[in-house]
Amino acid sequence: MSEVEENLLNIRRRIQAACVRAGRDLSEVELIAVSKTFPVDSVRDAMDAGQVAFGESRLQEAEPKIECLPGSLKWHFIGRVQRNKVRKLLPHFGWVHGVDSAKLAAYMNEVAGELGLFPKVFLQVNVGEEVSKGGFEVDALRAELDAILSLDRLEIMGLMCIPPPGPDAAASRPWFVKLRELRDALEIDYGVKLPSLSMGMSDDFEVAIEEGATHVRVGSAIFGKRPPASILLD
Ligand SMILES: *Cc1c(COP(=O)(O)O)cnc(C)c1O
Repeated sequence: MSEVEENLLNIRRRIQAACVRAGRDLSEVELIAVSKTFPVDSVRDAMDAGQVAFGESRLQEAEPKIECLPGSLKWHFIGRVQRNKVRKLLPHFGWVHGVDSAKLAAYMNEVAGELGLFPKVFLQVNVGEEVSKGGFEVDALRAELDAILSLDRLEIMGLMCIPPPGPDAAASRPWFVKLRELRDALEIDYGVKLPSLSMGMSDDFEVAIEEGATHVRVGSAIFGKRPPASILLD
């Protein structure tokens, strides 16, 4: 058994246990294997272990990988979305997690129409109000949500967040609660369904599941250590 396969089995067991603790059905939680910085062979190992959903955060890196892997895999774009990359990005990624302005959403809608696509979108919320991070401020999201919901090519799945770094998994809990409560409030105030919450990474996915995550984005716990983040930023 490959190390990736072993790690995946372990993560799936932990997801299952978190679902049991939270009284949730396992089918409500999708594991996205974040393969950024890892080679195609690692993706293949995960694929051989039954993994279907993968996450990438840079188009230049993802494109060649996706092109040499089977079309049956599902790709989630989890990085910052640059306007000038949208046209190349949408054909490869059925899910886009980092949408953080109405302007970007409107442009994606326009391009999706030209390409005949219906991308699934998560609206990223900057829960910790960090200057260094992308994502909507809550007030801006409220101001722009009606416009976003009117875009006929985008399927708005729900909300996504990357909490501020903390000392342990428990430190992420209040941020996950904040995202879930915001989602609940928006559903009422805007009369819309936002069923999905993309939250939780290698260090805190179990807490995220306990707080309602439907999509967890797990990289290093499956594929191993990545080089320091400083050299990954583009
Ligand atoms: C890299 C990344 C992940 C995965 O992080 P790990 O800590 O390796 O699990 C999840 N979400 C986003 C947005 C990322 O950029």
